[in-house]
Amino acid sequence: MIISQQKPIEEILGYLEGESNIFLLGCKGCAEACETGGEKQVLQMKETLTKEGKNITGTCVIDFLCDKALAKTRLFAHEGKIGKADSILFMTCGIGVQATSAVLPKVCHPACNTISVGGARGEWRGEERCNECGDCLLDMTGGICPLTACTKGLINGPCGGSKDGKCEFEPDVRDCGWMLIYERLKKLNKLDNLKKIIEPKDYAKMNPPKDIRSTIMWSLEQKQVN
Ligand code: SF4
Ligand code: SF4
Repeated sequence: MIISQQKPIEEILGYLEGESNIFLLGCKGCAEACETGGEKQVLQMKETLTKEGKNITGTCVIDFLCDKALAKTRLFAHEGKIGKADSILFMTCGIGVQATSAVLPKVCHPACNTISVGGARGEWRGEERCNECGDCLLDMTGGICPLTACTKGLINGPCGGSKDGKCEFEPDVRDCGWMLIYERLKKLNKLDNLKKIIEPKDYAKMNPPKDIRSTIMWSLEQKQVN
């Protein structure tokens, strides 16, 4: 199971600065089990953001945001409400944000940090990967993880080896992750994100915090259940 933790509300509000209309998306898979993105948490977030003056154009909680085909099919019914939104707030893990944002032509913000991908990665093994960094950067990178899409895990733009959109490692088969990020940000009209410097990561955040390690869910994830 993928374990996630909700980001501090101040950080989420920072992402939403300048945006009035927000669509909320939750996941009935791991995020519901972690109590970070189930029906209850999505409704709580709706209440919080409404109090902060945001207009919630709609909410939706679907099974497995890590499955692009399923997410796209289920979100079809919400097209109008998504269309009215300035952005989508994803209450799910890093893989769910990456997979679903790839099929939605909208600015997508992560509301959670992914702590551990555990033994399984949701229902469907797509190409998206998360390094469980505990401090999700997907808001800055258009929903593409720089730690996994870039072979070197660079967080502030490409290295000198990127050529014709390909990575210097295996250029025949591997796209440059930062070229993908650039193209995505361009499509979203968010190229300004590239002017912001991402602070060096605090790798201590890769260790699950104490409040997560003291949960039954974490114990079950660590041990064989008889
Ligand atoms: S930035 Fe990447 S590694 Fe970190 S939580 Fe987000 S998806 Fe996972
Ligand atoms: S070429 Fe692109 S993907 Fe490869 S290591 Fe450099 S920046 Fe990362």
